[in-house]
Amino acid sequence: MKRIGVLTSGGDAPGMNASLRAVVRMSIHRGHRVFAFYNGYKGLVENDSAEMYNRSVGDILTRGGTIIGTTRYPAFQDPEIIKKAARHMNLLDMDGLIIIGGDGSFRGASDLSDHGVPVIGLPGTIDNDITGTDYTIGYDTAVDTVLDCIKKLRDTASSHGRTIIIEVMGRHSGWIAMRSGLAGGAEAILVPEIPFDLEDLCHTLESGIARGKKHSLVVVAEGVMSASELAHMMKDLVGFVANTVVLGYVQRGGSPTANDIILASRLGARAVDEIAGGNSGIMIGEVKGDIVTTPLKEVLAEKKLIDPTIFHLAEELVH
Ligand code: ADP
Repeated sequence: MKRIGVLTSGGDAPGMNASLRAVVRMSIHRGHRVFAFYNGYKGLVENDSAEMYNRSVGDILTRGGTIIGTTRYPAFQDPEIIKKAARHMNLLDMDGLIIIGGDGSFRGASDLSDHGVPVIGLPGTIDNDITGTDYTIGYDTAVDTVLDCIKKLRDTASSHGRTIIIEVMGRHSGWIAMRSGLAGGAEAILVPEIPFDLEDLCHTLESGIARGKKHSLVVVAEGVMSASELAHMMKDLVGFVANTVVLGYVQRGGSPTANDIILASRLGARAVDEIAGGNSGIMIGEVKGDIVTTPLKEVLAEKKLIDPTIFHLAEELVH
């Protein structure tokens, strides 16, 4: 029988609760005891934890957010604080810790592992920029949420013959912009990974309107620039007038899609068996339908890049 810790860290993502449920219930199913640390690494450092039972995770499967809380806790970059967290793990006689979060959280996990704490990472972030998994927990839901907004904005844009610039999340990565833009038939998608030319963009939009398009939708990842900055630049260059919408935190909330719930459940269950089997310093992911493990150091070495073929397909299909 093992004693397993679990926490959620970094930005919340739909499906974090489903992965917590899987970790808790699979642990108990296998005869282990499982403890949640509240509010990410803060709970670990401050020893804010509670034992979890099957009923503790009842009714959370389809709920967004995370019932055990998450915090941005920059203090965790201090080696003394990490040592303190490792000491707590020892004092509580824990056999390992499962961390559900993004790449920042995995840096903390990797540091803990260097201090002798067995750790397993689960990719829980809407950004989908994590190496070692085709999809991260929360990404599918976020894309669906953006698509839903695009559909609503398209109604208004079509009725009024407007151009709307929709700013979506993605400081370093265009995963959300790319997939929601393709699914929503956006006239243009701007992502941090691929440079764009302002004149070309204006030309594309103007020629679409000249061909009889009733609306123009531009999806821009926040890492490229803000929607209002882009609108100003377009106005200054060719007098093009566009409305702007910033979707913001809407993209992180809501009930997870079936894909996210299933992914979260599969990864969470596997994490328990990996940690009970004595494995550490790895992330669990899904690649081509298979559940696989990747060393955290490899996961952290580089971000997963967007697939340019999807980006170009979106461009080809809007003419
Ligand atoms: P995400 O995990 O979604 O990428 P953050 O980048 O905010 O989110 O990271 C979540 C938490 O992980 C931080 O608040 C901090 O506690 C911890 N963390 C982030 N970067 C590091 C690092 N370089 N070293 C140790 N811990 C880190």
